[in-house]
Amino acid sequence: MSDKTPSSDGIRYVNLYESQDKIYTRKISGFFQNIRRYTGLPLIAGFLLLPWLAIDGRPAVLFDLPARQFHILWITFWPQDFMLLAWLLIISAFSLFTVTTLLGRVYCGFTCPQTVWTLMFISIEHFFQGDRNKQIRLAKQAWGFDKLWRKSATHSVWLLIAFITGVTFIGYFVPIRELLSGLLPYRDGATGMLRIDAHPVAAFWTFFFMAATYVNAGWMREQVCKYMCPYARFQSVMYDSDTLAVYYDAKRGEPRGTRKAHSDFRKQGLGECIDCSWCVQVCPVDIDIRDGMQYECINCGLCADACNAVMDRMQYPRGLVCFTSENQLKTGKIRFIRPRLFGYSAAVFIMFSVFSFTIANRSPLSVDVVRDRGARLYRLSGGTVQNVYTLKINNMDSEDHVYNIALQGDLPYQLKSYRPSLVEAGEVFAVPLRVFVNKAEVSSEKSEIVFVVTTQDQPELSASEQNVFIGPAR
Ligand code: SF4
Ligand code: SF4
Repeated sequence: MSDKTPSSDGIRYVNLYESQDKIYTRKISGFFQNIRRYTGLPLIAGFLLLPWLAIDGRPAVLFDLPARQFHILWITFWPQDFMLLAWLLIISAFSLFTVTTLLGRVYCGFTCPQTVWTLMFISIEHFFQGDRNKQIRLAKQAWGFDKLWRKSATHSVWLLIAFITGVTFIGYFVPIRELLSGLLPYRDGATGMLRIDAHPVAAFWTFFFMAATYVNAGWMREQVCKYMCPYARFQSVMYDSDTLAVYYDAKRGEPRGTRKAHSDFRKQGLGECIDCSWCVQVCPVDIDIRDGMQYECINCGLCADACNAVMDRMQYPRGLVCFTSENQLKTGKIRFIRPRLFGYSAAVFIMFSVFSFTIANRSPLSVDVVRDRGARLYRLSGGTVQNVYTLKINNMDSEDHVYNIALQGDLPYQLKSYRPSLVEAGEVFAVPLRVFVNKAEVSSEKSEIVFVVTTQDQPELSASEQNVFIGPAR
């Protein structure tokens, strides 16, 4: 019900969800826009190419959920490496905190996928529909051929990019060649209907991410940053008065006002801001930086580019809107060395060093031994005591190996009928083991036993696991 329509019971209902007006941004070029382009392009290229690259015959990056293996370049993470993955996320979070403390929300403005894809979609819109004013005119124009082809071309290219994004994203979870060939429709000879061979789950998520990309980058844009992204909400706690962010120098700019070219604005009692509103027209989140720091600002620097262009035209010094800090605006000094920044950097450095050391020294072999639950505690046979175990050999290497098993511990243990066999790369090989020892040697109910597994072709690669051997009570 509209907020203007009183209901029959006399109560006026108010709609708290205000509909958003579309933001038409002005095209701008400049230093920060170039940085956005040159950081965005390698990120997009990396995102698109990585699933196609192969290392040792497998995709360079593949999050293989059914096999519970994450392949990232030359490293494979296993379920037991969950802690390492958690550390990787913690290190990434602390790196983000460090960058935010130093440079504000530059991650949001320059590298966040939402921003990068939105910039790409806006560029396509500018290409087919023209700059800000043309787009506003086109939106008001009645539907005709001109409007139809421009809008259709824009949305067709958006959908194509969204499809490529969806396929690529799911290509990190399913080998991309398989996925893509499975998504190509063909006509079924028996039924005459169009079919695809891709797994329904993979197909669903591909089209889901395609739709999410189209909606987020094409329609929702800044609303994702304003209302959906949690980082936008808590980033302000990482700011301090020395954090570099985009500010308007009110001392220089105010009082703002229009003026004639080459006039002496100081005599008119004006500051350097000519109130042209270019800084607002280029802003992807539609805020006025002259109103001060606002939580919506993603620190993209486009308003600084726009204002610098205006300053050049007016032959005023650049930097009325620029990357600076609250302290620098007050005192003219930048302070880089400060306790919070030092703390974050030290934490990232230490965590990264420990993480790299752990990865570099990680053994590609692990073993696990469990006593057979179904078996009796021990078995007496022909003057020997026998225990049964299941040994799991986890070959986390990129090559197949054959493993030898040796037994150590309190007693002279012997293995019954174990024949070394090939364990494939990435395979978890479970082998039942029957261990026996002469009854006369058994002196206590529980004895220590150690299973030592050694790689046949690389004897230095070994792993061991301790367990207990149960014998009759003395
Ligand atoms: S105010 Fe400036 S820096 Fe902030 S989002 Fe808008 S254009 Fe980018
Ligand atoms: S672009 Fe610069 S001069 Fe123009 S309104 Fe913004 S701050 Fe003022």
